[in-house]
Amino acid sequence: MAEEKKIVRKKIKAAGDLGKFMAKYYYELDAAAKTGDRKIAWCTSVGPAELLRAMGFLVYFPETHSAMLGSTRMATDLIPKANAIGYSPDICSYLTADIGAYLEGVSPLSTIFKGIDGPPRPDILVYNTNQCRDVQDWFEWYGRAYKAPVIGVQTYRNVKEVTPVHAAAIAGQIKDLVKPLEEVGGVALDMDFFKETVGLSRRCSDLWKEVLDTAAAMPSPLTFFDGTTLMGAAVVGRGTQKAVDCYEILLAELKERVANKEGAVENEKFRLYWDGMPVWGRLSAHSKMFAELNVNVLASTYCNSWIFSDLDSEDPFNSMARAYTKLFIVRSDEHKEKYITEMLDFFKVDGVIYHDAKTCPNNSNSRYGLSQRIEKATGLPFLTINGDLNDLRLISDEQTKTNVEAFIEQLEEK
Ligand code: SF4
Repeated sequence: MAEEKKIVRKKIKAAGDLGKFMAKYYYELDAAAKTGDRKIAWCTSVGPAELLRAMGFLVYFPETHSAMLGSTRMATDLIPKANAIGYSPDICSYLTADIGAYLEGVSPLSTIFKGIDGPPRPDILVYNTNQCRDVQDWFEWYGRAYKAPVIGVQTYRNVKEVTPVHAAAIAGQIKDLVKPLEEVGGVALDMDFFKETVGLSRRCSDLWKEVLDTAAAMPSPLTFFDGTTLMGAAVVGRGTQKAVDCYEILLAELKERVANKEGAVENEKFRLYWDGMPVWGRLSAHSKMFAELNVNVLASTYCNSWIFSDLDSEDPFNSMARAYTKLFIVRSDEHKEKYITEMLDFFKVDGVIYHDAKTCPNNSNSRYGLSQRIEKATGLPFLTINGDLNDLRLISDEQTKTNVEAFIEQLEEK
């Protein structure tokens, strides 16, 4: 009998601290929802979290709940519940899984965190359509369900260069959020605290960037699959000291790995870049599949999306407007091509995986020839994986495996 190959994927110790951070975050929200002693704002993952925090709200991000529905593989059975009330199977499977979970009264939070029944009830919901229109529809559904106000920012799309005109218009919309937030929260905006919060968010962003940039080392101390869970603090904790503390610890560990030339994947032979959403229900399977082929998928557009280098504590409204409009997902294909090309060079990769997620066209960048153009410009081959972030009915594991193996063979031949 052939001896089974032992795959070594090195665990990150600081992931334990991140886990504790997430637990505290959810318990704090749950306590506030039960006692009513703090107001809760729901926010989209790249929404104006700094302002909400500075105005005294605890901030809950439904997309992290949807990602948990995906990674626990609960999502696929819940999506049809939302389809049945009129939300198409073709739209965002974060939205449909999350609304399905609400309709069924289930949540992974109750299994992961003892004593928590589910997401905290919102006092207000605040979106930014910078990532997609689905988030607005999603929040408006909950606004009706909870009879809570829904406010938001309508952003530009397909932006080539972010100009002062874009920034001024978005900054104006963020300022317009203040009055309804003061009415719901009962707290006036304290500009000093707002500046401090934006400063902490910038610090978190800078550290998160440094963490992700360590993957440029050869071998890389980090994988994309690690990044999708380590990014939790950047998503839900930006604007807090606790998130900063977590990333300082993580960064120190990764720097030590780099110094010792310790790769996250033993025998790193090929290095790949991932564009698009993760397949949450297959994170571990994909991580294992690539490691078995001595491949490290080490960097991604997705994890980099929580880097907001424009944030400036001295100019909070305008800098938030710039940061949340410069986001990759908001930009034109011309900008995206340039950005991905730079990343391929920076991370010294051998090829690219594009995940074409059926229910998220916003994060699927290979549909209009971008992957071919980048291949032509860089000479780096690519593979498109057809799948989805949450709906496992849209994924063929066999086909993915066959295609990935053939792609790696192609790299070997090269
Ligand atoms: S960006 Fe994609 S995955 Fe995220 S909320 Fe919008 S449609 Fe859903």
